[in-house]
Amino acid sequence: MKCSICNEKAIYAARYNGRHYCRFHFIEFVNDRVKKEVRRQHILDGGTVAVAVSGGKDSMTALHILSELAATQRKTKIVAITVDEGITGYRDKSLEIIEKYCDEHSLEWHVSRFSEYMGMTMDELAPIERPRTTCAYCGVMRRTLINRLARKVSASRLATGLNLDDTAQSILMNISRGDIERLHMMGPHEWVIEGLVPRVQPLRLIPENEVLLYATLRGIPFLRSSCPYSEEASRNLFRDIVLRLEEEMPGTRYALLKSAAAISCPRENVSAGRCIFCDEVTSGIICRACSLKREISEIYDRQNSLNSH
Ligand code: SF4
Repeated sequence: MKCSICNEKAIYAARYNGRHYCRFHFIEFVNDRVKKEVRRQHILDGGTVAVAVSGGKDSMTALHILSELAATQRKTKIVAITVDEGITGYRDKSLEIIEKYCDEHSLEWHVSRFSEYMGMTMDELAPIERPRTTCAYCGVMRRTLINRLARKVSASRLATGLNLDDTAQSILMNISRGDIERLHMMGPHEWVIEGLVPRVQPLRLIPENEVLLYATLRGIPFLRSSCPYSEEASRNLFRDIVLRLEEEMPGTRYALLKSAAAISCPRENVSAGRCIFCDEVTSGIICRACSLKREISEIYDRQNSLNSH
């Protein structure tokens, strides 16, 4: 199989556009789409951009590309931020990878820990009998801590490593649940809610398998194992559905993005309510993270008192 551009040996075939790419043109193909999104989302227009890094392929690739691009234009500072949920054998390993990468690339790095925020790690929360999946607690708390960290470093934008598959899954999840409000709230954010750092997504047009190949070809370090609690995530069902749809009808993921954009309403800059406990942005009186924190600590106290009798 030859590259559709230069006749060199192809290493990748993109079914959704029917083209083949050699190593050089595959890297260029990814870079071009990311650069276009960076411009479209005004990601490197100056100030500080916080990149949420978990140590996986997507966030490490986003950090790598953004810091490379920022180095050439010298008006935007890139800062890496990470949440340590306290998951032994997983998060501790990815923290090592991020620390080494940031050291080698002279990047500022900030970490926030669940143990300090809610008084327990995910490993301590996991065995507690509770009404929700581990991810239901973890995802909400992580979002809150990432936003806090981004504010702490005075970031004007918060970049995540969300790829095309993640985005297509989220669109399908929100539509299936009838949650149109959340569909509108999906990034990239072109509007500002006071207290919420606008999210940008430089990899949103890059399929997951292309991010993996790109990271491997470019020697970007990342953790290959996945979270031991990830099997509980309801997202897994939507991952399978999106993969199946893409397999049967190449281009479905891009079509989902296009449909979501067509039904999304443009937003104005707004000021939102604040949580009475932690002052984070919320549409209610207590934010979701505080109410889940209270829920888990009440369950924990109840179980402890039963065990001690
Ligand atoms: Fe947290 Fe679930 Fe992600 Fe693991 S898979 S890091 S528990 S949200």
